[in-house]
Amino acid sequence: MRLISVLVCLTVSSLWAQNEVRLSYTQVTPNLFMIEGVGGNMLLSRGKDGLFLVDDQVASVSEKVAETVKAIEPGPIKFIINTHWHHDHTGGNAVFRNGGTLTVAHRKVRERMQKENFTHALNRKTPPSPEAALPVITFTREMRWYFNDEEIHIYHVGNAHTDGDSIVWFKSSNVIHMGDVFFNGLYPLIDYSSGGTMRGMIKAVKRVLKDTDSETKIIPGHGPIATKWDLIQYLEMLEEVGQKVRSMKKAGKTLAEIKEAAPTKKWDEIWGKKWLKPDEFVAIVYNAL
Ligand SMILES: [Zn+2]
Repeated sequence: MRLISVLVCLTVSSLWAQNEVRLSYTQVTPNLFMIEGVGGNMLLSRGKDGLFLVDDQVASVSEKVAETVKAIEPGPIKFIINTHWHHDHTGGNAVFRNGGTLTVAHRKVRERMQKENFTHALNRKTPPSPEAALPVITFTREMRWYFNDEEIHIYHVGNAHTDGDSIVWFKSSNVIHMGDVFFNGLYPLIDYSSGGTMRGMIKAVKRVLKDTDSETKIIPGHGPIATKWDLIQYLEMLEEVGQKVRSMKKAGKTLAEIKEAAPTKKWDEIWGKKWLKPDEFVAIVYNAL
């Protein structure tokens, strides 16, 4: 079916007041909607059992997220799953939790949110989250939900973008939310300070690819909705850059020398323009090997 995009223009105060924040949503299937704003991509499931949201962006836009969900389908959000702990995927937890939503995530997400985290790759310190923001249901390996007339397979992929990444697979809809294991069209962050590794990213992408066909719609953590072919290109980029940086590192080259050798050159035109610069990505790969 055709994708229908709706742009909702909203103005918020606080952190993002200097810019008008725009949340938009795209109907992915009759009952699944991707919502985009200032943080990670969200996915809303609606149906006879109620509303279920994957990720909830940054704290300052929680009200706007709620308004956008309401514009799609009125009613309380029963569950939110966080694909990982980063603040642009869990920022709305406290607000929604106080409104009665149950928050769900891998055990490591709750553990990380209970303490201060330092993300070396971005030189960013994140303070511990308030109690209300902590996921109230956690799991370690996988869960199968039977909600809104379909099986939803939620499984952990270890040490990829972080150590607590979940993949959320809506099986009969043939839609997969990959969280930040997949950045579509921009170089990905591998948060090696949170247990992320290049090897784990590659392994996780391969695992997801097994469950895809030419019709699968893939929701990346950041970037537009993708197909299996987009994910294959992403995998090729990760493998090739990973191999190049690994062999130079093994040969004793310094990070500065590796940057100088421009191992991402072939990919920079597509992946290096929107967020992380080629040099920044090389440094991340170097540290995440
Ligand atoms: Zn992230």
